[in-house]
Amino acid sequence: MELFKEITYQSTRGGQAGITASQAILQGLAKDGGLFMPDRIPALDISMEKLGAMSYEETAYEVMKCFLTDYTEEELKDCIRKAYDSKFDTEEIAPLTKADGAYYLELFHGSTIAFKDMALSILPHLLTTAARKNQVDKEIVILTATSGDTGKAAMAGFADVPGTRIIVFYPKGGVSRIQELQMRTQKGENTAVVAIHGNFDDAQTGVKRIFGDQEFKEELAEKGFQFSSANSINIGRLVPQVVYYVYAYAKLLNNEEIAAGEAINVVVPTGNFGNILAAYFAKQMGVPIKKLICASNDNKVLYDFFTTGTYDRNREFILTTSPSMDILISSNLERLIYLSAGCDAARTRELMEQLGRTGSYTITSEMREKMQDFYGGFATQEENKTEIKRVFDDTGYLIDTHTGVASAVYRKYAEAARDETKAVIASTASPYKFSNSVMEAISGDTEGKEPFQLIDEMSALSGTAVPQAVEEIRHAKIRHSRECDVADMKGEVRDILGIPGLVAGRK
Ligand SMILES: *Cc1c(COP(=O)(O)O)cnc(C)c1O
Repeated sequence: MELFKEITYQSTRGGQAGITASQAILQGLAKDGGLFMPDRIPALDISMEKLGAMSYEETAYEVMKCFLTDYTEEELKDCIRKAYDSKFDTEEIAPLTKADGAYYLELFHGSTIAFKDMALSILPHLLTTAARKNQVDKEIVILTATSGDTGKAAMAGFADVPGTRIIVFYPKGGVSRIQELQMRTQKGENTAVVAIHGNFDDAQTGVKRIFGDQEFKEELAEKGFQFSSANSINIGRLVPQVVYYVYAYAKLLNNEEIAAGEAINVVVPTGNFGNILAAYFAKQMGVPIKKLICASNDNKVLYDFFTTGTYDRNREFILTTSPSMDILISSNLERLIYLSAGCDAARTRELMEQLGRTGSYTITSEMREKMQDFYGGFATQEENKTEIKRVFDDTGYLIDTHTGVASAVYRKYAEAARDETKAVIASTASPYKFSNSVMEAISGDTEGKEPFQLIDEMSALSGTAVPQAVEEIRHAKIRHSRECDVADMKGEVRDILGIPGLVAGRK
């Protein structure tokens, strides 16, 4: 008989330990403000050769069962089946496209055409299963801050899921036209969308503050509500993201693009540090990955961090053509800090408190030493634009503005480091989601044109079909028009849930 070792979760700040996976998914953020981490990163217990012959769903089971040990086989397989179905427009779920010598791992074939779908199509099922397992009788209220893609993907996942409500905050003017339309046309009685007068960091900090408000939590509990998070801090987001790195490696091997055991580099366009952390987990599980190339846009906090050891958010927030990466506080970095501090929660807490107080912290050289697998790079908006055009002109393959950042960083890195290791580039969004900027890069003729005109031109120019997700919003009705100041986010939550409160200027 197989010996089964349960994995438990603890907070990166030391306040909670011995939590099951389902409890960690339900809670989202730990009570002390920390992030949940597994007590160890399990090794894959199946060979790459076997994985190479498996479907995405089968691979997902092999990977996720290692982390979510309190879910039964039936529960987990049921969640996977419901998530990775015809919502995706390709059976492969995450296909690889080779262009200009690199492998683009397309993570945008889900219902909202960005990589957030990879995890957010399964999170609602993991969460409702967790609620059942833990006898939760309250309505689960998902609060989410979004830089554009999480919000829509989370709503698409949670819309009309019984026992759940979802409230999304996005920065007004800080997302693409298509992203905004996608959110504001969202159906589902249990969905709410609020534009805040601030940037993504304001939205994320506001949501974290509401999570940390014990009094409000108790008041909500009396009314039958319980908060949870669909943001990438939830371990239920991170674990499904490990799957596609394992899948990509196994497929490269199966297709004889690489030899058994050959190490690859992975390049990830990064914002909140969730996607690249998943690649790091995949490496820890045994996937032969050499370098994890962390690509930033002009908001290059992470580049500075990896090159100097100092994280410093005290700088101007720049709105770029890759809005989903316009982030100065990369929440998931806390997990890497924790790991590289040798799982020292007190030390992690100290650094995070320093970040909250002063906006910066510096790690020790021993910690930096443990981050040698990571390489930080960045691409300016101009470099990004040039790269999108270059790849399109040379190969006919069209990439979006986030993938463009990763692609540009990869080319710069490969040349500077003279590293010819084969590379997988995480391709995080469909070019149709950022049609304006992508068309600006490849045709330059966008002045005064409406988004849908550009979308049709893009389709003609690239010879690719307009995705269903975009067709859907072409004529859809606007359903959400809420707006608020950052200071009023809590009041807005009250209003949406129908809980009266003593907020100045509100009914
Ligand atoms: C969210 C997002 C990113 C950044 O991913 P993180 O996990 O936050 O680092 C990159 N590209 C796109 C298109 C995204 O939606």
